[in-house]
Amino acid sequence: MDDYQLVLEDIADSLRPELGKAGHVASYIPALARVPAAHFGIALRTADGVEAHAGDSTTGFSIQSISKLFTLTLGMQHVGERLWERIGREPSGNPFNSLLQLESEQGIPRNPFINAGAIAVTDRLLHYCDPKRAVLELLSGLCEEPVRFDEEVAASEAETGFRNIALANFMKGFGRIDHDAQTVLDVYFHHCSIRMSCLQLARAAGYLCRDGLHPYSGEPVLTGRQARRVNALMLTCGTYDAAGEFAFRIGLPCKSGVGGGIVAVVPDKLTLCVWSPALEESGNSLLGMKALEMFTARTGLSVF
Ligand code: GLN
Repeated sequence: MDDYQLVLEDIADSLRPELGKAGHVASYIPALARVPAAHFGIALRTADGVEAHAGDSTTGFSIQSISKLFTLTLGMQHVGERLWERIGREPSGNPFNSLLQLESEQGIPRNPFINAGAIAVTDRLLHYCDPKRAVLELLSGLCEEPVRFDEEVAASEAETGFRNIALANFMKGFGRIDHDAQTVLDVYFHHCSIRMSCLQLARAAGYLCRDGLHPYSGEPVLTGRQARRVNALMLTCGTYDAAGEFAFRIGLPCKSGVGGGIVAVVPDKLTLCVWSPALEESGNSLLGMKALEMFTARTGLSVF
C-alpha cells in the first residue's frame, strides 16, 4: 500500500515552484480577489479513517460550488426521487452560470451542479427544511467541527450575483421555481459562502467513498444507490465544461469551486480535497487539477 502522507508531501513539494505563477484567482467579489494565489493544500481520508495532509491543508477557504454536493445530498435526503422532476442529469458543456440552455430547455437545468441546478434544488429543499441551517448541521456533523458561512462573501455574492439573479428569475418565469427568487438566492449565496479547509472537506465528503455511510459514525447519510449517483454526477458534471478533461486526465468523480477547491472521490477507498486559488478558464483550480493528476498517476487509483 502507498504511504499516502509521503505521496501528498511529494505532490506539495513538486508543485511549490509553480505556486502563483499561472492562472487567475476568481475576482468577481473582493473577498475572493484578495486571496493570495500562492496557496496549495491537499488532504485525504480513507474509508477506514486513515488521514494524510500536506501544505495549507488546514486553512479555511471559500468552498463555493463544492457546496452544490451537499445541497444535492440534502435534496436527496429530503425530496427523494421527485427532485428529478425539475432537474436533469446531463453534462451541460456550457459555463456554470450560462443562461443559454435554460431558454431552449424550458427552465429545466441540465444538472444539479451548475448554478441553475443548485438554485432549483434549493427551491425544492425550501418545502422541507431550513436549508441554511440544514447545510451547516450536515457539514458540522460530517466533519465533527463547527462549519460556518462567511457573511462577507454571502453579502458580496448577493450584491454582484446578477447572473444568478437572472437564472432564478428565468426559471421562475418558466414556473420551475415555487418560492420567491430572492428567498431561494439568499440560501444559494449562503451555501456558496461556506468556509472549510481541505482536511474538513476530505472528512465531510467521506460518505461518498463509503456507500453513503457517515465517515465517523457509520450511520447512513445517503443510501448506497444515492451515493453512487452523486459520484456519477460528479464524474459527468462536477467540473462544468471541463468534465471530459477531468475524466481523461484524472479519472475520478470530482466537484470543484471557484474558490480553488476540488473534492475527489475514489469509491470504496478514499476522499481527497485539494485547494489552490488560481483557476484555469473553466473555473477549476489549475494546480488542483495537476495535483489530482499526479495523485492518480502515482497511486494508480481511478474509476476506470
Ligand atoms: N458563487 C459562484 C457563483 O454562483 C459559484 C460558482 C462556482 O464556484 N463555480 O457564480
